[in-house]
Amino acid sequence: MTSRLYRDVGVVLRTYKLGESDRIIVFLTQDHGKVRAVAKGVRKTRSKFGGRLEPLSHVELQLHRGKDLDIVSQVESIDTTAAVFGDLDSMTEASSILEAVDQLVPDREPVPQMYRMLVGARQTLLTRPSPLVVPAFLWKLLTAEGLRPQLDQCVSCGESSDSEFVAFDFELGGVVCRSCRSGLAVSGPALVLMRDILGGRLGESLDRAFNPDGQQLNDPIINEVSQLATRAFEHHIERRLRSVSIFERHT
Ligand SMILES: [Zn+2]
Repeated sequence: MTSRLYRDVGVVLRTYKLGESDRIIVFLTQDHGKVRAVAKGVRKTRSKFGGRLEPLSHVELQLHRGKDLDIVSQVESIDTTAAVFGDLDSMTEASSILEAVDQLVPDREPVPQMYRMLVGARQTLLTRPSPLVVPAFLWKLLTAEGLRPQLDQCVSCGESSDSEFVAFDFELGGVVCRSCRSGLAVSGPALVLMRDILGGRLGESLDRAFNPDGQQLNDPIINEVSQLATRAFEHHIERRLRSVSIFERHT
């Protein structure tokens, strides 16, 4: 039986109630990808798991391999800074990130790069929370999926003059010029910010967006980049769902 026991580290993506006192916990683990496991008795007041299995918890795990669902046998917190998540803005942002990962990642398929990105985004939310964290994460996620947006020339005609870029086309996956205009309008500063996020200046951009006073500024450029990221991500998920259902119809 011991061979069915395994250890890993992971981040809790979401949880569901199961029966009277249990929960199903969905983890993104480092080595085993997305894993669904039952935490028995976790909803009892004196649970041996304490509060260590809340969404965004970063934990060391021992699991029993099951047929569909695994069983959580031990959990240790890797860091306890998650107490910061009393902050409503950060919790909303955390939920968006966890949901995006959950939607994108298939069960039991190791995705170590995605795991590293998630742990990084979690750390940023804890140390430098800002409205830029979620859109930056979504753009990086799409890029990791092989969908790096074209930001340097019109995806339709190849026009490369910056001043001509007026919109972002989600189907073609990049900026379009005035003559090819389609999709959602994009401003010059929003384009610069997206290039920074994807061009190795993510850290600087996140530093600039972080306001240590705690009050989050309503920055129109970040809002624009955020709206574009959400639309691009939804477009990707919908297209993938469509391609899966077409595939299933033909088999
Ligand atoms: Zn064009």
